[in-house]
Amino acid sequence: MVGEERLASDLHGAVARGEIVAHYQPQIDLATDRVVAAEALARWRHPELGLISPAVFIPIAEETAVIHSLGRFMIDKVLETLAGWRADDIDLEVSVNVSATQLTALQFFDRLDADLERFDLAPNALTIEITESHPVLDTPSIARRLEDLRRRGLGISIDDYGVGHSSLKQLERMPATELKIDQSLVQDDSVESLALMTAVVELAHWRGLRVVAEGVETPEQLELMRELECDRAQGFLLGRPMAAEELAALVR
Ligand code: C2E
Ligand code: MG
Ligand code: MG
Repeated sequence: MVGEERLASDLHGAVARGEIVAHYQPQIDLATDRVVAAEALARWRHPELGLISPAVFIPIAEETAVIHSLGRFMIDKVLETLAGWRADDIDLEVSVNVSATQLTALQFFDRLDADLERFDLAPNALTIEITESHPVLDTPSIARRLEDLRRRGLGISIDDYGVGHSSLKQLERMPATELKIDQSLVQDDSVESLALMTAVVELAHWRGLRVVAEGVETPEQLELMRELECDRAQGFLLGRPMAAEELAALVR
């Protein structure tokens, strides 16, 4: 068992040492069954401990200030990947996870603005995923900056919807373009879950949001997401997170 202190101290230099890598998990469009997008997911290749899951190191990064440099690194990486794919005529959108704490540093928005200009990408090529419900999203200055980004065409996704403090009210509060139904709902075959997903898809569509089903593991779940009229699906059934080149090969 490795202590959190050891991880926290190792994580400090991990970005600079090149130990953080981005993997990409495909998302398919349920109308065409084609891969249209990918979610970037961070992995930590620890020199002694091996591959460490973001479920372990992201919370540690959020407690320390490391989340800012790590988050920055992931956005840089994703923009670089998008530019490379575009050069190879691979037309995929990418989503990147952003912690609510990252949004509290206002230079986050300035840098993102500058990046979007520097890379000259179609703005809808990039979506930022924000896990639903965080008091920071109630801060008017942050809400305004998110709204600005959305106006520029950037995607803003509410991640893990349906667990924790998800409320229907939140859909109004966040300047979002997409809602991701949490895998715990997708994988739950109870009537309650079905009723909730039906209502969520309807409301999200009514508000003009794209709906992505996360954690699709079986053909039955995929079929159900189609019937519910989700727009996109992501999950181990459709593809695991993989290196950018692997995904490019798959799409080709
Ligand atoms: P998330 O954003 O909800 O990402 C989806 C997670 O579900 C990923 O776990 C993915 O590997 C996993 N997953 C995808 N399909 C399936 C499936 O069919 N079945 C199951 N059981 N799981 C599936 P991962 O990569 O371990 O990431 C965990 C969480 O860590 C992410 O959840 C996200 O909240 C956070 N995270 C990952 N990368 C970053 C990052 O660069 N920045 C920030 N702030 N958070 C990140
Ligand atoms: Mg996500
Ligand atoms: Mg999620």
